[in-house]
Amino acid sequence: MSFSVEVLTLFPEFFDSPLQQSLLRRAIEAGLFDFKATNIRDFSTDKHRTVDDVPYGGGAGMVMKPEPLVGALEDARARLGEIPRVLLTPQGTPLSQELAWSLSEGPGMILLCGHYEGIDERVREGWIDLEVSIGDYVLTGGEPAALVLLDSVVRLIPGVVGNRESLMDESFSCGGLEYPHYTRPRDFRGLGVPEVLLSGHHQKIEEFRREQSLKRTLERRPDLLKRDDE
Ligand code: SAM
Repeated sequence: MSFSVEVLTLFPEFFDSPLQQSLLRRAIEAGLFDFKATNIRDFSTDKHRTVDDVPYGGGAGMVMKPEPLVGALEDARARLGEIPRVLLTPQGTPLSQELAWSLSEGPGMILLCGHYEGIDERVREGWIDLEVSIGDYVLTGGEPAALVLLDSVVRLIPGVVGNRESLMDESFSCGGLEYPHYTRPRDFRGLGVPEVLLSGHHQKIEEFRREQSLKRTLERRPDLLKRDDE
């Protein structure tokens, strides 16, 4: 069974090109992942196709109205079944590799992209299972965040990346940051390649990479190592 992602958005075209590239396109072609972008505006309940309104209590900006959002969420759920409904918001749980692994083990996800000041709070309370932030900054809309989340999850679905072992060596899945990589030429503008990588000695190469991974993590992200001791 393939992993389903449905994005609820005011800008479905945003996803056209990214989904036609590289690994995401190959995953769709291989039947491992199916994708649909649904226009929230199709679920507006008035003839002007309104999706936003002024905030109660006054203040700047507009708020996304509940009727089209809940209509779109219920329609997606009716087709896809009980899959997690995820709201992209700067106020959500920070996206991590661990969260990406856990979502990749499920049947899929419905991603709701906000705009303007965000969505009516009652939708968040009654129709959302998980809130995810991609970092401590504010985007114009949830679309770039949905794309980041879906890319990080889809590449972990079994069969999408050919060599699944390589996923375990990667930064964050290996308990820290991954070791540095080199490819040909052996000499690039006077810069060489560590001798051990040319030795063909697998055990020594593995030791070197482990050391480099630890050194990098200590230098750049010691917080990743601390997490295990806590
Ligand atoms: N007024 C909101 C606040 O201060 O928390 C920010 C609204 S933002 C301009 C519009 C939409 O972009 C949000 O509803 C959300 O869907 C998306 N968004 C913005 N920053 C995000 C982030 N860091 N992670 C995930 N989604 C984000």
